[in-house]
Amino acid sequence: MTSTSSARDIFVDGLRNAHAMEKQALSIMEPQLKRLQHYPEVSAMLEQHIRETEGQIDRLDTILGGLAEGSSTLKDMSLSFTGTMAAVTHSMASDEILKNSFANHAFENFEIAAYTSLITVAEECGATDALQLLRLSLDEERKMAESIEDSLPAVTRKFLQLSASSERADI
Ligand code: MG
Ligand code: FE
Repeated sequence: MTSTSSARDIFVDGLRNAHAMEKQALSIMEPQLKRLQHYPEVSAMLEQHIRETEGQIDRLDTILGGLAEGSSTLKDMSLSFTGTMAAVTHSMASDEILKNSFANHAFENFEIAAYTSLITVAEECGATDALQLLRLSLDEERKMAESIEDSLPAVTRKFLQLSASSERADI
């Protein structure tokens, strides 16, 4: 790379990428929630985190708005950011609930890494107002990752139980 970027440029890019990431999070969680039938504890977790994610998007909009960065570029970015890494669906899998849980855990950890890095950039470019908002989002991602991990034994036991019965076990 021959061109240089200021910490502030990198911060703005990071905010836009985080915005796209959160849109992707919604596009992963919302279809899962619609399909779920037999795992009310997972449904509740997803419902709560969808609401949190909407709040995270509002926070990023607030921060970007405060930097007076154009929102049209933002829109473009979030629309083009599809089909990557964790945007996998497992609706053809006989163990859909398990594969989705693994992928959701991976996605939350991706978000944890993204916010941890973004917070460091915010610190380095003196964006102190943004820090508190970004830390709230990071905290929500950590809690969600932990909840998913904590839920895995019970979800797996339920999957085994349902698989042994005539009930549908995968969703
Ligand atoms: Mg998020
Ligand atoms: Fe998240």
